[in-house]
Amino acid sequence: MVLTHVQELDEASAAVFASRYVQDPLPRYELGEKSISKDAAYQIIHDELLLDSSPRLNLASFVTTWMEPECDKLMLEAINKNYADMDEYPNRCVNIIARLFNAPVDAGEKAVGVGTVGSSEAIMLAGLAFKRRWQNRRKAAGKPYDKPNIVTGANVQVCWEKFARYFEVELKEVKLREGCYVMDPDEAVRMVDENTICVAAILGSTLTGEFEDVRRVNDLLAAKNKRTGWDTPIHVDAASGGFIAPFLYPELEWDFRLPLVKSINVSGHKYGLVYAGVGWVIWRNKEDLPEDLIFHINYLGADQPTFTLNFSKGTTRSRLPHWSSQIIAQYYQFLRLGFEGYRNVMENCMESTRTLREGLERMGRFTIISKEQGVPLVAFTFKDRKDAPLAFRLSSELRRFGWIVPAYTMPADLEHMAVLRVVVREDFGRPLAERFLSHVRMALGELDDAAKGGPVPRMRVTIELGPAAKGSSEEATARVVKREAVVAVHRSVSLTGGKTKGVC
Ligand SMILES: *Cc1c(COP(=O)(O)O)cnc(C)c1O
Repeated sequence: MVLTHVQELDEASAAVFASRYVQDPLPRYELGEKSISKDAAYQIIHDELLLDSSPRLNLASFVTTWMEPECDKLMLEAINKNYADMDEYPNRCVNIIARLFNAPVDAGEKAVGVGTVGSSEAIMLAGLAFKRRWQNRRKAAGKPYDKPNIVTGANVQVCWEKFARYFEVELKEVKLREGCYVMDPDEAVRMVDENTICVAAILGSTLTGEFEDVRRVNDLLAAKNKRTGWDTPIHVDAASGGFIAPFLYPELEWDFRLPLVKSINVSGHKYGLVYAGVGWVIWRNKEDLPEDLIFHINYLGADQPTFTLNFSKGTTRSRLPHWSSQIIAQYYQFLRLGFEGYRNVMENCMESTRTLREGLERMGRFTIISKEQGVPLVAFTFKDRKDAPLAFRLSSELRRFGWIVPAYTMPADLEHMAVLRVVVREDFGRPLAERFLSHVRMALGELDDAAKGGPVPRMRVTIELGPAAKGSSEEATARVVKREAVVAVHRSVSLTGGKTKGVC
């Protein structure tokens, strides 16, 4: 019997922590028969959520885990808004981003783009636009239009594979090789044929954070287009790098400055600095978004063009309330931070990345495979090839300290490489970076001990961090203040197989 005596409890006893509610079994997969009090419902769910690891210590994800309290407040104020003229804020954001990416829009002109729930939806829409444009051109020329393909690197994020399967486009992947973990532009352009709807370049490879050379893809492809008479365009998947490059590397040409770049996606919830649930896709010109993909609805009074996969979110007066608050949060960040603020945040992230990188290098066991220019993350492997399986063990050892660090094998042809990746977000400052390094050192020590002499007793060690010793390197000193034996509890998380590999 489940929670049967709710009504009989008086207010006072219902509010007592550890009341009968938390003792009785709960309905999980069916609707309970009776109501329970709001305090009990809150407490029960709150308690279960405590078991989730702290999002701040999750170094696997690019997704924003901290925003200013003022913005949290605005989001709460907007959370129940499903009746607001919400066109205004997405429009402002689209225009801000298009100009940041150097789209050819004049001062008074409106940029072309839409807000989405993330880069995955943005990529589906951009891919559809390319497919439709290519089909229209082929039809007009009386040529077959049933075998479209996209050329990418094998390092693409899983959403491209989804697009390919859902919308029946072949994905032609340029293989990676030892020492080159991104799409080789020469090889990519060689693979382009008359059925290629676009080449997709990544600004910030999910696996290593490295920027692909979009400038070279553009130049090689322009030459090939001239030779063949084709009109193959480029899409840039700037999910993570789109809010890094404009601030840290303004000279780097990767965006609409390159004539063949026709659309770009970016995740607002990654380095756009908004909580999960917002992405953007921007087109160079109106002509790059075929009119027949846009629906016009007018039952809300005025003509309302819509091109999204998610209906409720896309209409003026019935947007998902949740999404409204993400859009408001995005606009808050643009307004509040400005160019200067974004640049400061990105510089800080880079600084923490350097601390991590140098600390890991000093341990002498790892090869860093991420580049200094790119998304602020450190991707590394064990130097010694035979240590590769240790990557997965190190990942689970670090979980005991609360850190989530994914370990994954690389795609086709480099599967022997097991990589660990630490993503640096705004809220991962130097003190956390230093603690993380000391935990890696401890975890490595334990792995080495285990390798030497069978199972070692598990200990819980409490350490206290002190200031760095005078004149020494910049890391803090650690002092062990308590050791206690613990019974090991392991949660195993499958991190291999498929393209997801526990990273996003
Ligand atoms: C994260 C990521 C995606 C998917 O973005 P979401 O916003 O999570 O949907 C696509 N491509 C790249 C390169 C990414 O890093």
